[in-house]
Amino acid sequence: MEVWLASHNRGKLIEFRTLLPALDIHSQNELSAYTPPPETGKTFEENARIKARSLRAVKTGVWVIGEDSGLEVDGLNKMPGIHSARYAGDHASDAENVAKLLKMVQLRTAHSRAARFICTIVAYSPEGKEFIITGNIEGRIAEKVRGQGGFGYDPLFIPENETQTLAELGLTRKNQISHRAQAIRKLAELF
Ligand code: IMP
Repeated sequence: MEVWLASHNRGKLIEFRTLLPALDIHSQNELSAYTPPPETGKTFEENARIKARSLRAVKTGVWVIGEDSGLEVDGLNKMPGIHSARYAGDHASDAENVAKLLKMVQLRTAHSRAARFICTIVAYSPEGKEFIITGNIEGRIAEKVRGQGGFGYDPLFIPENETQTLAELGLTRKNQISHRAQAIRKLAELF
C-alpha cells in the first residue's frame, strides 16, 4: 500500500519505514517541485493537518500522513513545543537547537528538567477521511549532550525509567518507546 509522508525530515522517514516495513512509504522529498506550506498552526494537530492537506493536494488516491512533533520542557514553560524545529532560528540545525535548549535549561537551574516529546499525526485515507492520532513519551533533559543516534533533541532526552538518552539507546529501543512509535503503532491498526 502506497503512503506519502508530509515531512522533509529524514529521521522521521526512517522511523516510519522501520515501524511499517510492509508499506510503500514515500516522502515529499521525492517531489522536486513541491513547496511545503508554512507551519502557521498554533498546535501540533493544526500543523500536522496543514502539512497533510498540502501534500494531499498533489498526491491523490493514496494515504497521506501529516506529522508534527516536538519537545515540551516544564522548566521552560513548555517550550520549544511547536517551535522545536526552529528554536534557535528559522533554518537552525539540530546541533544549534540542542545547544540553545541546553543553554536555556542551564540558565534555569532551579526549574524542572521534566520534559516530554509529543507526536500528532493527521492522516487522510485515499477517500479523504481524516484520522487524528497522538503519542507521547515522558522524560527529562540530560545534563549534557550524550550519544550519536537519532536526530533532533535525542542526545538530550532521557526517557522515564531509563538512564541513557534516546541517542545512546539507539533506534531499536527508541522505536519501542517513543512518542512517534506509539502514534505509528496506532496508525498501523488503521491500515
Ligand atoms: P517538525 O518536523 O516541524 O514536526 O519539527 C519537529 C522537531 O521536533 C524536530 O526538528 C526535532 O527538533 C524535534 N523532534 C520531534 N521528534 C523528535 C524525536 O523523535 N527526536 C528528537 N527530536 C524530535
